[in-house]
Formats: sequence, structure tokens, C-alpha cells
Amino acid sequence: KCHNELVRLKGNIRVLCRVRPICPGEADAAETKNLVTFDLDDDAALYLSNKGKLMTFQLDKVFPPQATQEEVFQEVQSLVTSCIDGFNVCIFAYGQTGSGKTYTMEGVPNDPGINQRALRLLFSEVSEKKPDWDYKITVSMVEIYNETLRNLLGDNPNEKLDIKMCPDGSGQLYVPGLTEFTVESAEDINKVFELGHMNRATACTNLNEHSSRSHALLIITVAGFNSSTGHRTSGKLNLVDLAGSERIAKSGAEGSRLREAQCINKSLSALGDVINALRSKHSHVPFRNSRLTYLLQDSLSGDSKTLMMVQVSPLESNVSESVCSLKFAQRVR
Ligand code: ADP
Ligand code: MG
Repeated sequence: KCHNELVRLKGNIRVLCRVRPICPGEADAAETKNLVTFDLDDDAALYLSNKGKLMTFQLDKVFPPQATQEEVFQEVQSLVTSCIDGFNVCIFAYGQTGSGKTYTMEGVPNDPGINQRALRLLFSEVSEKKPDWDYKITVSMVEIYNETLRNLLGDNPNEKLDIKMCPDGSGQLYVPGLTEFTVESAEDINKVFELGHMNRATACTNLNEHSSRSHALLIITVAGFNSSTGHRTSGKLNLVDLAGSERIAKSGAEGSRLREAQCINKSLSALGDVINALRSKHSHVPFRNSRLTYLLQDSLSGDSKTLMMVQVSPLESNVSESVCSLKFAQRVR
């Protein structure tokens, strides 16, 4: 109860930070070890030593490198299950390439991240029979690359999709042709992730490089129906592994690289602008400035809940990008 009150006080946007560990063989310089420091008495503070100057950042919670996938999931669990009660939720992983976004969202084979844990939890929660309630869970996977949408669970992953306004005047958006996979068993969950992963890998020569330049979205909808009262609920959980936020040197990039960089800058700054406008309760929210914010419009506005996980690399060589990411975090918080 106490926790919910805290969330309400802070509004519907929470900004967390996760600092990844130094990987074996990555860095040995002593200064790297004390680059990012934490406060034992304040789990929302983070200190970053930037060229000898100590910078302080205040977030809603900070996960140090030793935090486990389980601990991170515990923090977002109530947000995940709120979509059973009809809330729309967005969880974003933001940060430069190599900061741990995919580790947090997808995870690794023996230690899954938020995506798998969320889908499994939702499936088990709705499978526990509540009197009179019936639920249906559907899953879509979308990639946004250079402002075009790809249907990752479809038969043809190269087919480009459009975002359209429903003709009924409701203001609702939809994506014609987007595959919605109905999850009916625990095995279906494995199938979804296998298919999505396979489709993402097709049509690109280097998956790692490609995935750092595109946004990957897992969209889970939970529709409930109460057979005795006729009451319906509909909630949506959007789990987003964003494209790398690193600034591309303007002089070096040309052609397709330059276009990629421009598309990423456009959508990440559009996301920042939208969250900022929503938090400051501006009347105009610029959803239409990018495909990402346009697609997520319904899940960012109204009484939707948003969580931003800002990922930070512990390396000295990444410190200026870490500062940028943490500044983004302060801007949306
Ligand atoms: P990004 O998606 O932001 O480019 P990755 O998630 O691929 O970054 O992480 C970069 C590397 O660091 C990967 O090898 C990943 O396994 C590792 N890594 C990231 N976060 C953690 C963590 N919390 N614990 C252990 N290894 C991590
Ligand atoms: Mg990644």
C-alpha cells in the first residue's frame, strides 16, 4: 500500500538506472573501478566521476552492478500485473550500445530478463482462475528501423507495416496486418520468443549491429471478460529495447549510417519530448514526431504508466555517453 502511494505521489513516470558490471577482460584501470559510486543510505542516488569532477544524479532507484535479474524484475512486477486490471504500461531500456539494455529486457538464456519474466507472470496470473473472469493474452513483436515497422511474428518479416487511425472516430490507432499471437500455453511463450528472434535475424548480416540501430518492441495485451457482470478490461504492456543512444560523429557518418543516426536521434528525442510534455501536463503532446511515440500514443497518455530504465556502462571510455544518458534521465524525471 505504502509503495503504491509513493508511485502515485511521483506521478505515472518512474526513472530507474541500472549500472552493468565490468565484464571479464574489459578494463583493468584503477580509475574505472571508482568511476560510478553508490550511496548505501540512498538507493536513488548515483555519483559519476567525470574528468575529476563528481557529478550527482537523483533517480527513483539505482541498481548497482551486482543487482540480479530477479531483483530488477521485482521492482517492475506490480507495473507488469497492473495491465490485468486494464492499465497501459510502457517499460523502456535506454542507453548507449553495450550498456546492458538487451541484457535487462531479453536477458541471456539461463537468466531471462523482463520480457520473458513479464509474459510468464501474466500468463500464470490469468491462468489462476478468478471466479467468472476469462482472460486472453496476445503478443506482437515489432521492430522500428529507420522509421519503418517490421512485423516480427508474421510470415513475412520483411513486410513493412503502417500505423493507421481507426475509421470509427474513436481516435484509436491500429497497425493493419500486425500479427497478434494468442498465448494459450507455457510452450507458446517459448515459441513467441524463438520466432521473434529468428525473424529479427533474417534480412540483416550482423544482428548485433542491426539491433543497436533499431528499437525492438514486445507488445502484450491482456483482455478480460466477466461472464456474470459483462464487465470487460483491456490492458497493454509495451516492453521496449531502444536503439543505442550514442551520438554518432557527424563528420564520420554518411549515406545509410547518417540516415540511421538521424532516425535514432529523432525518435529518442521525440520520446524525451513526449514524456516531458506528459509529466508537465502540457496540453500539446507531440506524439506524431516519430513512429515510436505515435505507435505508443495510447500507452503513454491518459492514466498509463511509464518506466524508464536508464542503462549505464561502468567504463571510463564510456563516461561522456553515461553523462548524456543520465542527463536524459533527469530530463524525463
Ligand atoms: P546493449 O543491448 O545496451 O547494447 P547488452 O545488453 O548487449 O547491451 O550488454 C553488453 C554486454 O554486457 C553483453 O555481453 C551482456 O551480456 C553484458 N551485460 C550487460 N548487463 C549485464 C549484467 N547486468 N550482468 C552481466 N552481464 C551484463
Ligand atoms: Mg542490445
